[in-house]
Amino acid sequence: MDVTQKREQETPGDAGSAAARVHVKPRHALPLWSRDPWVLSGAIERIDGCPRAGELVDVVAADGRWIGRGHFAPASRIAVRMVSWNATEVVDEAFFRGRVTSALALRHDVLGLGGDSGTDVYRLLHAEGDGLPGLVADRLAGAVRLQAGTQAGIDLLELAGDEITRALPGVELVLRHDREALEREGVTPSELAAAAPAAADTPAPAEQIVVREGGVPILASPRRGQKTGFYTDQRENRIRLGRLSRDRRVADLFCYTGGFALHAVASGAASVVGVDSSAVALELARASLERMAGERQLSGAASFVGGDAIEWATSAARAGERFDVVIADPPGLVKGRASLKRGLARYRRIYAAALRLAEKGGVVALFSCSGLVSSREHEDTVVAALRETDRTASVLSRLHAGPDHPFRPRAGGGEYLKGLLLTLLN
Ligand code: SAH
Repeated sequence: MDVTQKREQETPGDAGSAAARVHVKPRHALPLWSRDPWVLSGAIERIDGCPRAGELVDVVAADGRWIGRGHFAPASRIAVRMVSWNATEVVDEAFFRGRVTSALALRHDVLGLGGDSGTDVYRLLHAEGDGLPGLVADRLAGAVRLQAGTQAGIDLLELAGDEITRALPGVELVLRHDREALEREGVTPSELAAAAPAAADTPAPAEQIVVREGGVPILASPRRGQKTGFYTDQRENRIRLGRLSRDRRVADLFCYTGGFALHAVASGAASVVGVDSSAVALELARASLERMAGERQLSGAASFVGGDAIEWATSAARAGERFDVVIADPPGLVKGRASLKRGLARYRRIYAAALRLAEKGGVVALFSCSGLVSSREHEDTVVAALRETDRTASVLSRLHAGPDHPFRPRAGGGEYLKGLLLTLLN
């Protein structure tokens, strides 16, 4: 009885209090008090009520104390994605509109992206990092690709689209479902069709558009590309590696639409080769290169090769080819805890293949974009690859996504991209 009274006192009554209550097991509340944004399904003791996917629920500790409020996902490993820890805060449409507006202002005012920054491609909304779980948006020059990865994200698509077009008048909005993420959430395709407009209903920007990143023009395809059509998370690293590439021989493994390679070309690299298995991505990479060659005098040869990056790197190294700058930016290879060991072994093979290509004194950037791989595990994998290839390296920098990808500290925070920038001593 005591417990009930306490709970009633501390549960906000006027804040549109959610009907359902998710009770967290005793020790599992600890990270939530520290504002960890995820309640994993294994942390739940019981649920009062029968919340639907995407519904707001109150999250309470074992002793009945109100912790916060979040969106429920019945079939997901992440059962609740928290949106508020403040009992007096009303979580309604205006609340989410406010979060979208703040996220847009952050890019503009604090990060200095947009305007005449030389960059018109960047992340506008970054899920938990902007207090908007399930929603991601990238600006690609005159287009914005807005994507939902949870049911709650789908429910917020229209509202977020509204705010974006209000803040950035004239942009063309491309709405998308992140099918892979939604499958993991247990949201089925038929629910999708009913819940959100199909991409075809939205205005269609030109298939290929030119975006600018640190002054370098790159072609992108917001409607058809992987992820949101462009990997905005590597912007700072592409600019940085570009600066290191002047007069150097550069290999860009897993190049997608050629981001690192094109920065190297623009910086005056002696030679550049990009390798990727996606023919569609390479088509864009080659078109960007051609466009660049039409605009300026290129200092060295550049080409894009289709195929498996490890095979290509291994046979190039055997043939005695060496590069001064080598980048390996493979796709996410660890999708679940069960595949961690296997995924790390694959990263190690990739890193070893990249290291074999590198000249003594050269620079190598080795990335992982798997959220489930910690910085420590990533570094251990790089060390194992160095040992395997008998190379000695020093770290110039740890690399991350740029500040348009804010992440929450500690677990579940979304710090997924990690890289090591190495210089080879032998
Ligand atoms: N560095 C890129 C992003 C890379 S994303 C940028 O800055 O834009 C990962 C890329 O790996 C994708 O383009 C995908 O097509 C490619 N890929 C996946 N498996 C591959 C393989 N075995 N060999 C070569 N490329 C591969």
